[in-house]
Amino acid sequence: MRTKSSAASLRAERPPKASRTSCAPPSGRISCTVSSGCRQPGWSSRRRCARVRPTMTALKKAAPEPRRALLAWDREHHLQALGERVFDLLVVGGGATGCSVARDAVLRGLDVCLVDRGDLASGTSSRSTRFIHGGLRYLKTFEFGFVREGLQERATLMTVAPHLVRPVEFLFPARPGAGTSRWKLRFGIGLYDLLAGRNRLPGTRSLSTTATLTLEPGLRAEGLGGSVVYRDGAVDDARFVVETAVSAVEAGAVIAVHVEAERLVPSESGPAVVMLKDRLSGASLGARAAVVINACGAWAGTLLQDTVTPSKTGAASSRLRPSRGSHLAFPREILPISRVVVMPSRSDGRLLFAVPAGDFTYLGTTEVDHTGPLNVVRAESGEVNYILRVAGEVFDSPLLAREQVLCTWAGIRPLVERPHQPTGQLSRDFRIFQGAPGVVTVLGGKFTSCRRMAEVTLDVAAGILSRRFGRRADACITGWKLFPGAEGPVPDGDPAIPASLDTAVARHLSGTYGSRAAGIFRRIAQTPSLGTPLVAGCPVTPAEIIHAVEREGVVRLADLLFRRLHPLMMEARMASPQGKAVAEEASRIMGSWLGWTEERCAREVSDSLEEWRRDFSVP
Ligand SMILES: Cc1cc2nc3c(=O)[nH]c(=O)nc-3n(C[C@H](O)[C@H](O)[C@H](O)COP(=O)(O)OP(=O)(O)OC[C@H]3O[C@@H](n4cnc5c(N)ncnc54)[C@H](O)[C@@H]3O)c2cc1C
Repeated sequence: MRTKSSAASLRAERPPKASRTSCAPPSGRISCTVSSGCRQPGWSSRRRCARVRPTMTALKKAAPEPRRALLAWDREHHLQALGERVFDLLVVGGGATGCSVARDAVLRGLDVCLVDRGDLASGTSSRSTRFIHGGLRYLKTFEFGFVREGLQERATLMTVAPHLVRPVEFLFPARPGAGTSRWKLRFGIGLYDLLAGRNRLPGTRSLSTTATLTLEPGLRAEGLGGSVVYRDGAVDDARFVVETAVSAVEAGAVIAVHVEAERLVPSESGPAVVMLKDRLSGASLGARAAVVINACGAWAGTLLQDTVTPSKTGAASSRLRPSRGSHLAFPREILPISRVVVMPSRSDGRLLFAVPAGDFTYLGTTEVDHTGPLNVVRAESGEVNYILRVAGEVFDSPLLAREQVLCTWAGIRPLVERPHQPTGQLSRDFRIFQGAPGVVTVLGGKFTSCRRMAEVTLDVAAGILSRRFGRRADACITGWKLFPGAEGPVPDGDPAIPASLDTAVARHLSGTYGSRAAGIFRRIAQTPSLGTPLVAGCPVTPAEIIHAVEREGVVRLADLLFRRLHPLMMEARMASPQGKAVAEEASRIMGSWLGWTEERCAREVSDSLEEWRRDFSVP
């Protein structure tokens, strides 16, 4: 049901063929000078960084014209498909929940489409603390069932996506004076391990104060009473969502990003209609589906209006309570920890974390009611002060200061309201509402539970499909079906890795894409310049960018930088000239694939900088 105007504006968006090569770069090796504004220690304010630009010939050799035809995930084709057929399921929201629902549905043999008004994971799902866990802190509130379920999911996700969800070591410092003695901690973590049952991760142990300070010399020694070390799960949240979506698309799902669901028109007798807006072209579209899943997270209320009739089971008093959590990042050398360090806050007893992440260490999180508009989600100055204060209680370093902070990020927890409870005590469990005919809303939950939430939501949707439309869905297989890239990493020294490839680049690609890195390595073997980092000190290569454009549905530079390249923490790099140089080079490469004009390439860079200032800069 795409309107004429939408097709026309899509044509207008596509640049004329002649202009497609207009952002052709000068060829050969160049060096660039980037200036000032760098907050990273060890960086001079003017710094020369050698860059090897792949020539246009190299880019063409990698993919001859017309390049669009080579896109395995072409947004235009997916947009077109949205209006062409009646889907079994339309999912609104491309975060962890929505993408997991779409993947589960398509793997059950359903015809499914998904839209997100921004990029994949552009809501809360790229702003988490990045743990896949049962949640130690829920032991305090005796939510043992919830913790056990989280630990089961941790085991499942480590099996189906081992390159994305990994065990990492945590160190919990004991401070007997503040009520956290080593024995108390050992008991709590022992209980946590017990709840994991046969899925328990090995390695829990108590350490003396001396052994603790040997492992993490940056810890404040006064009041330290040893520590307990244990293992839990970590994930790159945005990459997990992207790979979930890739898996769904490869199985036949239609997924269109930057498409907003503006209005939902349920029907008593047939499929629901969802009025959509393509936010890149401004065109209006319509899509029809037997069942609509509202997976809009903290924004679910905007679609919920008029579509939810609360059940008699107490759901009437339930509604969304947006709770904001923020993080900040330092260069790794400011806080050079080797494992995740738990940081209990003395003022309110909350547990914060310091997490090593490549060249950076990030700290978080906060928990405050988000009372402002839902389209402005950024860390506030008071939250930065709070995190720095807690970090100062745990670590002994004068460098943990606001001036050293490279970036911040904030997300909104889509918590389900229980009246009169502070947000910290609200359950992270999820709820499923059925409202208007054929509309299912999934609310709450946490990243860890996204696969399970999808399974339960799909069971509800399958019931509706069967009752109302006589359509049967297969059983859920996401409990064992491997993710793309899960067949095993490409190990160091594997013959698939081109001999000339920089080790840091090879490790980054294997670590991020698992077995799928082999495809990127093959491309580099054919055209070696595609394996040269765009900028010294950051392992982003043209080959990785081409992979994102061809296979991961990326259509804007900011989406590449802040979601597809998420493990490299581009939001922290963008505080320095290095990040800006990566952005400029990446725009040129994306442009050559997607037919951008020179002007468009420049606009993408300035839009990305604007997104960085809005969402990630230090308040
Ligand atoms: C600070 C913080 C730290 C956290 N840390 C952890 C953690 O370590 N471990 C853990 O398990 N959980 C964690 N969580 C919870 C977890 O991040 C969230 O539960 C999860 O990401 C929510 O995913 P979602 O898909 O439901 O929502 P979102 O990721 O917000 O996705 C909703 C999507 O809907 C889209 N959307 C909204 N309205 C529309 C519309 N009208 N049309 C189209 N699209 C629309 C949005 O653009 C968005 O992409 C954390 C949360 C926060 C805030």
